Amino acid sequence: MAVWKKHVRMVTPYVPGEQPNQPRMIKLNTNENPYPPSPRVEEALWQMDAHRLRLYPDPGAAELVEALARRYQVGADQVFVGVGSDDVLALSFLTFFNSEKPILFPDITYSFYDVWAELYRIPYVTKPLNPSFCLVKEDYFGENGGIVLANPNAPTGIAEELSVLREILDHNRDVIVIVDEAYIDFGGESAVSLIAEYDNLLVVQTFSKSRSLAGIRIGYALGQPELIRCLRDVKYSFNSYTMNLAAIQIGAAAVEDEQYFRETTEKIIATRERVKGELGALGFSFPDSRSNFIFATHPRLPARELFEALREEHIYVRFFDKPRIRDYLRITIGTDQEMDIFLAFVRDYSAKRL
Ligand code: PMP
Repeated sequence: MAVWKKHVRMVTPYVPGEQPNQPRMIKLNTNENPYPPSPRVEEALWQMDAHRLRLYPDPGAAELVEALARRYQVGADQVFVGVGSDDVLALSFLTFFNSEKPILFPDITYSFYDVWAELYRIPYVTKPLNPSFCLVKEDYFGENGGIVLANPNAPTGIAEELSVLREILDHNRDVIVIVDEAYIDFGGESAVSLIAEYDNLLVVQTFSKSRSLAGIRIGYALGQPELIRCLRDVKYSFNSYTMNLAAIQIGAAAVEDEQYFRETTEKIIATRERVKGELGALGFSFPDSRSNFIFATHPRLPARELFEALREEHIYVRFFDKPRIRDYLRITIGTDQEMDIFLAFVRDYSAKRL
């Protein structure tokens, strides 16, 4: 082995879902929104002045921060923005998880958490979800170096009640608790309402799902000013200009269109509930998702085989070859028409197999 390798930060990277590019594919594998972003986003794009790209963007992204502060009725000093919630979460791990004690998160959750922990050399312990994939709250009551919970959780879609998060927060006043709410707008109860009460709570959300803007990369954190100040200090010690001009302007335009946001999220929720019924009728079972995906298993249709059969038809869903979940497929909610094609294929497939 070359000697220099001893001094390299070797890591096993996170593997994002594939981004195939087929002409007539149905893409239900990375929890994107099937609807376009708000028409106001398109307007903002048209109005963008190319000459302004000569200048550095506002390092504080004030236009976007202020739009978010108005939307969530918090101070501008309670909002931190980043390049997708992955960026915000990565920076939050770096900023808040510096204890010798291990941080805690569930065994089945967003698979980036252990990657960041490894990258930053943060000790961590995973706590098994119960057999129904619910959080065992008592597991988070002991000493620890911080907690990160996705709510609704990924890839299960299960939303824990706010009272469960409150109990966990009450047992953890001395460490930072991060609640990753990437999917909160599809029916869960947001912990943003708890921020005023808990100075150790950081809530992270994203524009990638409910605001149809995965491609522009915007995420944000909400918390008390002191937490936000710590995050900003670390960001300015790393890269001042994370938010480009287009992201700032487009993001602000998207947040201001509350009506479009409500319409599209409600449509996705309605489609999800219909698909739950149809999958149930086909013999699938799944946790009660409050997200824009369904995590489904079938007692007689092996998940990997169905995943591959769907793929042949250019219908992409997500399969995780991991303990406890390799019998499941995570199916993003697309348009009604996309879901009908998906369901027709599955109906046909199971009729031939069973
Ligand atoms: N958190 C969870 C639970 C997710 O599933 C995702 C999407 N992969 C993210 C955060 C990151 O999303 P983004 O960086 O696009 O905001």
